[in-house]
Amino acid sequence: MQNLRYVGKNLFIEKLSIKNILKTNKTPFYIYSENQITFNYLKFANTFKKTNPLICFAAKSNSNLNILRILSRLGAGADVVSGGELLKALKAGIKPNKIVFSGVGKTEEELKIAISKRILLINCESESEAKLVNNLGKKLKKKVSIGFRLNPNIDAKTHKNISTGKADNKFGLSIKNFKIFLKTSKSFKNIKLDALSVHIGSQILSDAPFRKTLNVMSKLIKELKLNLKYVDLGGGFGINYTDKEKPINLSKYSKLVHNFSKKINCRIIFEPGRSIIGNTGLLVSKIQFIKKGTNKNFIIIDAGMNDFMRPALYEAFHKIIPIAKKSSKMRDKIEFVGPICESTCKFGVYKNYPKINENDFVAITNVGAYGSSLSSNYNTRPLIAEILINKNKFRYIRKKQNLLKLINS
Ligand SMILES: *Cc1c(COP(=O)(O)O)cnc(C)c1O
Repeated sequence: MQNLRYVGKNLFIEKLSIKNILKTNKTPFYIYSENQITFNYLKFANTFKKTNPLICFAAKSNSNLNILRILSRLGAGADVVSGGELLKALKAGIKPNKIVFSGVGKTEEELKIAISKRILLINCESESEAKLVNNLGKKLKKKVSIGFRLNPNIDAKTHKNISTGKADNKFGLSIKNFKIFLKTSKSFKNIKLDALSVHIGSQILSDAPFRKTLNVMSKLIKELKLNLKYVDLGGGFGINYTDKEKPINLSKYSKLVHNFSKKINCRIIFEPGRSIIGNTGLLVSKIQFIKKGTNKNFIIIDAGMNDFMRPALYEAFHKIIPIAKKSSKMRDKIEFVGPICESTCKFGVYKNYPKINENDFVAITNVGAYGSSLSSNYNTRPLIAEILINKNKFRYIRKKQNLLKLINS
């Protein structure tokens, strides 16, 4: 995050020292830089300026209402994967004609909401879903604009748990079965195939899988002589979680996308999540206890895998940095762990870490995407607060969940 830096020994986001937030607020909590959110969105939009795509922010990466509002004001649409996300996107001021709905198991209830709100596209992922949409359209006396999500059988070369575009993955329809569907769906009078969509995975750091996908799509559209309004190229653009990784370079890809859109004469849709919101957030946590182990010392922090799930779920690495940095180092190996009663509730091993003590504070970095939105009440712990920073000011964008309410429900 460009807006994150040490001033002297103290960690700042934008123009605010995190120490100032800690004076009046109990850890753990999420903090986000508004400036960074705006910067990331505009940078993405600018990279693809010539193509003028519709940018549908993947709401599942961070569904905080205030963050959706910021993105809505910047002109973003939304990619939603549930009825709840759909209603939240609308509440954030995102117009229905900028919303696309993905997911393999949409319910009748969710589809009815999408149809009656007249969203831009329902991206169907199976023949059965398209049939259900057609039947619901008939009942509601509407012709429904759909996209079909294809599974192009392309390896995104990412962690297996976030790969979605291979034949073994449950997402989308194979090209072979899509062709069969086209022949058999002529009788479906209440749907109109306006788009094809693909989303091959997440945290993709090379443009090669995206290039392959463009080739598959342009060949198919030409072969089938499809007359589409949109091609939805999904999200998945990777960011650098470590200093060694490089974020994906989108400027080369943007030229290919531009040529592709001219050739097929369609408007392009993107569904970025992580690349917009990933590096904008920190999870601030207190060191509760330090315990000597046999091979390493355990730094037990007050944030757990229920607050931040990515390390447990995807073996993800997120660098942890001190809020007030000391110049002396600790020689022993340490491991940051959380309080949850699961062995996977751990956040990384370090050597030569700057000196830290019990009651000091640390920040887990790059937690803006799939952080808060993946959090849960596991171990009956309340959902934690979310705070938005703008220059030298901060405000709550979600209050900590009330513990009494939680135990009574
Ligand atoms: C999760 C998801 C995205 C967003 O992926 P990122 O890697 O966060 O950009 C986009 N489209 C669909 C269909 C998704 O399921």
